[in-house]
Amino acid sequence: MQVSAKNPLSILKQTYGYDQFRGEQEEIINHLIEGGSSFVLMPTGSGKSLCYQIPSLCREGVGVIVSPLIALMQDQITALAQLGISARAINSSMSDRAVFEVKQKLESNNLDLLYVAPERLVMPEFVELLERVKIALFAIDEAHCVSQWGHDFRPDYTALSFLAERFEGVPRIALTATADRATRKDIIERLKLENGRTFIGGFDRPNIHYSILERNNPKKQVYDFIKNYHLEDSGIIYCISRKKVEDMAEWLQGKDINALPYHAGLPAEVRSENQDRFLREDKIIIVATIAFGMGIDKPDVRFVAHMNIPKSIEAYYQETGRAGRDGLPSNAYMIYGMDDAVMQRNWIENSEAPELQKRIENQKLNALLGLCEAAICRRQVLLEYFDDTGEPCGNCDTCDTKPQTFDGTTPAQMALSAVYRTGQRFGMVYVVDVLLGKEDDRIIQFGHDQQSTFGIGKELSRAEWQNIFRQLVSRNLLMVDVQEHNGIKITEKGFAFLKQKESIDFRKVTISKKTKADKPSRRKKPALEDEDDQELFEKLKDARQLMAKKRRVPAYVIFHDKTLIELADRRPQSFEEMLEINGIGESKLKKFGQTLLDVILKG
Ligand code: ADP
Ligand code: ZN
Repeated sequence: MQVSAKNPLSILKQTYGYDQFRGEQEEIINHLIEGGSSFVLMPTGSGKSLCYQIPSLCREGVGVIVSPLIALMQDQITALAQLGISARAINSSMSDRAVFEVKQKLESNNLDLLYVAPERLVMPEFVELLERVKIALFAIDEAHCVSQWGHDFRPDYTALSFLAERFEGVPRIALTATADRATRKDIIERLKLENGRTFIGGFDRPNIHYSILERNNPKKQVYDFIKNYHLEDSGIIYCISRKKVEDMAEWLQGKDINALPYHAGLPAEVRSENQDRFLREDKIIIVATIAFGMGIDKPDVRFVAHMNIPKSIEAYYQETGRAGRDGLPSNAYMIYGMDDAVMQRNWIENSEAPELQKRIENQKLNALLGLCEAAICRRQVLLEYFDDTGEPCGNCDTCDTKPQTFDGTTPAQMALSAVYRTGQRFGMVYVVDVLLGKEDDRIIQFGHDQQSTFGIGKELSRAEWQNIFRQLVSRNLLMVDVQEHNGIKITEKGFAFLKQKESIDFRKVTISKKTKADKPSRRKKPALEDEDDQELFEKLKDARQLMAKKRRVPAYVIFHDKTLIELADRRPQSFEEMLEINGIGESKLKKFGQTLLDVILKG
């Protein structure tokens, strides 16, 4: 690439067309340029890619990016080409000839970035090739895949620890958008990043509105949601099984909605065609199993709907995080039922996974149920899970309409003291049995039938107690120690709760009945308030669509909506003024500037 000055800020301005760094980007970038390694945990859409792309351009040599999803490498490369950055991929889907050409470019030092899948990076022949060229850095994307504690473990990733020894002195950066505490620690150990720095960005995605409702009429609930808020938009609907995916897609098509199915059982051509249409066309809704979405960086996905619960909060956060990467208002909408939980538990039980893994998965599921049943702001529960904090957000269903709750102070005190008196080492089932006064052999053997908490909870049912325990865990008053046979312990927050005699409310969970019409989220507003501006925005979108078609790339690769909105609002009259718009750098100005300027001047 040709850059006049190899300094991060001027690259940001000239190449990407942005005028300032966000959050910790600059610090991460400088640390890498100086040769330091790091672990970066920041939410989707926060700009992680720039954190390795810019240092790759500043440092001598090629930046090698490890990513698990080869299907999307091409899109990234196309997008980078629009910016004038020379990037290529090497992966198993390419012909020998194409691979050969990339290798030549690599050996003649003609590449800024090289994308590879992990299995390629550990091939001896490929490693030898890399040893012959100058490497600017290694970036390990989706780094949670390296950890069994994460929610998408990939054995191929574990081999990546060899980079630390084999390429000593080359800085490495591992990035992920989802990792709880245990997963973070594991990633750092496995990738040997102990001597590097850790950057944890705020987790919040303020532009996403969350709502979670009980399921009573699944298809209609989701259809109403789309009809009310998203008829003009792209979105993703997640279902639990292939059959449900096909069923739902067909049903929506019958209602004149452009819905396309996606799951691992469809022929590869159908899958890639549907994914392609989703990326390239407007107003396409993909109905999918979780096989869809990893690495999808379409910025203008306006909603993600779940018809069943995912298996963990991390999975939920990652899946919903695919909405609104461009920062514009978006919806995460989920309907759930207790049969979801039963099904997930059966899967865990019947899987081949080792006992510890099963326990981890059960706890992750409990945390997710805690989120569904939460009586407080959804965002607070989500952020708390990732050790982040925030005030009630005003942009989720429980903030919009306070759910029905009951005063749970007394049951919470009972639960905590039963945990305490049984020694903080038994699991939830056992403690609930104590509260219910069940004369079980083990309880008698341990003498817990002689304690004051034995049988004090008889007024509530087992299901109610389980709900309370889950909510206590999700509120971080109790924690489950998976290393110690799922024994429940009281957290610091829990002890403070007891000591200060605080009060607590729980959400009333009804046994699914028909509920009144759903009222999930904000009504959609047009992007621009002024009618003329909105009209110009639509015209700019049309122009973008034509340019995208001509180049056979998705529209957002040309410009994001955000950039077009800013253009319609500020109406620059010259190339110079256009450069001040976010998202217009020198390369894009040269390619598309005149066309857009014509539209604006005519408008
Ligand atoms: P992530 O990989 O963390 O999900 P991306 O790197 O894809 O996020 O960035 C999300 C969007 O934000 C992209 O369109 C990117 O170009 C844009 N972006 C990144 N950094 C900045 C910045 N400093 N200023 C403005 N936009 C930015
Ligand atoms: Zn809220």
